[in-house]
This record gives sequence, C-alpha cells and structure tokens, in this order.
Amino acid sequence: MVADQLRPRGILDERLLAAMEDIPRHLFVPARLAPRSYEDCPLQIGEGQTISQPYIVAEMTQALRLSGTEKVLEIGTGSGYQTAILCRLAGEVVTVERIASLLEKARKVLMEPYTENVRFRIGDGTMGVPEEAPFHRIIVTAASPKVPTPLFEQLAEDGIMVIPVGERWEQDLLRVRKEKGRMRKEVLGGCRFVPLIGQFGFHE
Ligand code: SAH
Repeated sequence: MVADQLRPRGILDERLLAAMEDIPRHLFVPARLAPRSYEDCPLQIGEGQTISQPYIVAEMTQALRLSGTEKVLEIGTGSGYQTAILCRLAGEVVTVERIASLLEKARKVLMEPYTENVRFRIGDGTMGVPEEAPFHRIIVTAASPKVPTPLFEQLAEDGIMVIPVGERWEQDLLRVRKEKGRMRKEVLGGCRFVPLIGQFGFHE
C-alpha cells in the first residue's frame, strides 16, 4: 500500500508513511472485507458509512503538517483508522462521531493496543467541542456545504483545518488556516466523501 499507492502519488512524510506501514488497517473494517482492506479504494463499514481510501487518509494527514505535539479535533470517527494515525502523529486527539454503533466499534479497536491520547465523543461534530478548544489542528472526514462556523472559532491562531467542502456528492478538499483571526483557504484537490450531517452541515 505504502510503496504502490502512497509514495508514487507524492506522500513523502516519513513519519506518516511509517505509521501507515505499521497500523493494521484490516482490523478497522468488517471481517469479511479484511482481505480487501489494503486496496486503493474506500470500503463500507456499516450504517451507510465508509472507511476512506488509504491515499485520501494520507493526503489529509500530510496536509495537517503534524509535528507530534498538537491537540487535534477529528470529526467523523467512522472506523477509527484515521484516528489511530492521528494518535500516533499528534499529541492528543479528540474524536467525534454521530453514530453510536460506529463509535463503539472504533473505541474497541483503538483500546486494544491501549491508546492513551484519545478521547471519544458522541454527537454533532459540526458544533465542535467548545470545552476542549482551542485545537491546533482540525480534520473533518465527511463532506460539508461550508466550513462550520463553530469549528473555525475553535481553531487556534495559526492552526490548520482540513475539510471537504462542496456539494453533497462532490467536493473540494480544503486546507483552511487561521491567520490573525482570518480564514485563508487553499484547494488541495477534488474528492468525494459521505455527507457531514448536522446543524452546520447537511440536513438528514
Ligand atoms: N475517517 C473515517 C471516515 C468515516 S466516514 C474513516 O476513514 O473510517 C465519515 C463519518 O462521519 C461517518 O462515520 C459519519 O457517521 C460521520 N459523521 C457524519 N456527520 C457527522 C457529524 N455531524 N458529527 C460527527 N460525525 C459525523
């Protein structure tokens, strides 16, 4: 996966590549899909949701520019695979999922090799987690019609947020920075995520 799908497409962050080499992606998908878990595509994880394609996980994580000390907010825990990578590359992680059954599965896999620097939340991630703010980094792994206001408010000065923004089934992957309180956006490429459902996202 790392040699065929990631390096040739410009993922060069060695800490990230090592994390993706080590973290057993097959544990984060339903057992019947384990044999396909390193393929170059997203896979169904139940409840109509998907685990992102490995390259997308890598592209989003690389765009966050993590050095190892950051406090990160992740919206859309899903399988917990992206969460595992963040835990390895950042200081601490707060992850929010709206579907309880997915959160419970992710919690189980992540607690197996006891991960200490993660806190799980159930709820509408478009509201962020104000009591834990500010966050140095925010990653949203579901598609939003716009950058949710509470998330930008909870981003630290000089912080980075990576989020797919656009239509329900087609979006631009954005890197958003907060510079002197103002939003600076950069388009990283096109993408397709399941919708972010919530007050500042899409409606059900
Ligand atoms: N990073 C995950 C992606 C899962 S798909 C992975 O690779 O496994 C996106 C997830 O976002 C789904 O699990 C979906 O339930 C969740 N989601 C959608 N809207 C949300 C919201 N408002 N708050 C929290 N999670 C949300």
